[in-house]
Amino acid sequence: MKIVVKVGTSTLAHATGRLNIRRVAELVTVLSDLKNAGHQLILVSSGAIGMGVGKLNLPGRPADMPTKQAAAAVGQCELMYTYDKLFSEYHHTVAQLLLTREDVDFPGRRQNFENAMERLLELNALPIVNENDAVATDEVGVSTTIGENDTLSAIVARCVGADLLVLLSDIDGLYTADPRKDPDAALIPEVREITPELTALAGSPGSALGTGGMATKLKAAELVMACGCDMVIANGQRPELLYGIAAGEPIGTRFVGRREDR
Ligand code: GLU
Repeated sequence: MKIVVKVGTSTLAHATGRLNIRRVAELVTVLSDLKNAGHQLILVSSGAIGMGVGKLNLPGRPADMPTKQAAAAVGQCELMYTYDKLFSEYHHTVAQLLLTREDVDFPGRRQNFENAMERLLELNALPIVNENDAVATDEVGVSTTIGENDTLSAIVARCVGADLLVLLSDIDGLYTADPRKDPDAALIPEVREITPELTALAGSPGSALGTGGMATKLKAAELVMACGCDMVIANGQRPELLYGIAAGEPIGTRFVGRREDR
């Protein structure tokens, strides 16, 4: 299978913004193993800004654009250094791809991206994608950013024709209510259609270091389901869940892609 895995900042970093070393090591082990088992893997990794905040000892996620850009430039290096080091232990070669909205909005440029991805996968490399936060900034009236990696990972999944997109988040899946507030909230194991009722369930962004939230995850699901790709939301605290998810086991919330055989 061709699998796109998206990890959020809350999975990769401690609340301090510093790298969660054990978590990243576990994630790299599982991804390497799945690759050894024959799957093609693409990682969409957040964490550039969060890690830059930690490395530059900033008091929190920057509010102004130039500091955010600077944090991303510093943090992206740290992120790739870490992935390169850890994946090398399992003899896997990583590749960095940093995108802006324009790279995927214009057909010619999107084709360039798709060509690079296809060739990297043929060469058995492991592409690691993030938004190019050091230069992707919105000016008034011009939207050049994607803004968060739920949407970015769905765009990537579509471009590469993935079979499965896994969003590793700080929550077990989609719930009937906010599980942090409502003890009766129940996990929804499977979704076959994004209804207005489901959209209404999606709350607002949760953590201090990342962006996104349930609303962007449902939007991502809609994007990939239309292409016959499944999407699973699962808890990134346990990267080993990826084994079961790749095997089709009921873990987290699975959004079933629209295919004729279903
Ligand atoms: N591109 C951002 C980063 O690397 C993350 C976006 C997101 O959290 O979805 O920090």
